Amino acid sequence: MSVQPDRAAWFEGGDAECDHPPAASSRPFRVVLLGPPGVGKGTQAELLCKSLGTCHLSTGDVFRAAVAQGTPVGLEVQQYLDTGELVPDEIVIRVVDEHFAAGGPLEDGFILDGFPRTLVQAEELEQVLTDHPLDLVLNIEVPTDTILHRIAGRRVCVNCGASYHITNRPRVDWTCDVCGGQVVQRDDDTEEAVATRLEVYDRQTVPIIDFYANLGKLVVVDGVGGGDEVQERLVKEIDGRFDPTRR
Ligand code: ADP
Ligand code: ZN
Repeated sequence: MSVQPDRAAWFEGGDAECDHPPAASSRPFRVVLLGPPGVGKGTQAELLCKSLGTCHLSTGDVFRAAVAQGTPVGLEVQQYLDTGELVPDEIVIRVVDEHFAAGGPLEDGFILDGFPRTLVQAEELEQVLTDHPLDLVLNIEVPTDTILHRIAGRRVCVNCGASYHITNRPRVDWTCDVCGGQVVQRDDDTEEAVATRLEVYDRQTVPIIDFYANLGKLVVVDGVGGGDEVQERLVKEIDGRFDPTRR
């Protein structure tokens, strides 16, 4: 499996560059997307990446690429991805630190999707970002029955990660409209793994919503509706709260 350049740019050992268009703003955006599995974070992150000119960094994509390529990290994390459990903090933090250490995302901004997912990870991110604080954390909310419907019918391109649904198929069979790759069900979109992922989200990730609310960074956005509609809501929040004069 290959991955889109902007995703691969964050992948250990990858030599791809993020190919986002140049930032429209004089200062880069630093944004975290929060929300349970199936809420549309990946789709929205990709749209934001284009409209804001900022790299989209997804730990889920990084880990799936590592598994597909059989790297040492991939071998370490495969069992967690398959069952829907979280990858242990020390592995996630090692991978994330490595990428921030290179300086790129700190200087150019980022949209994080799937990280942080635990309080330990959120605290670590605050450390890394001491001199480059987050602008805001967008918490996308969707009712659970909608989430279950979305995930049950979700199909993704193995090549570029583009997302489809059994009610919104590619134009030709199960061939990706964007890149021609094969469109399949994700291994962890089975009923059992989804139940685990939702339970893990409630237990491990929900506490970081309060963490960011206490820092005054949390914004709740309604994730019900079409992708473009949700995107408009996100951009409006970012426009309204982004401070171009801050470091
Ligand atoms: P989703 O949000 O739809 O569950 P992701 O693509 O974000 O999917 O993540 C897929 C899997 O990758 C998770 O179930 C987990 O095993 C692992 N993972 C991704 N990001 C993290 C993280 N920050 N901490 C721990 N595990 C992670
Ligand atoms: Zn594709």
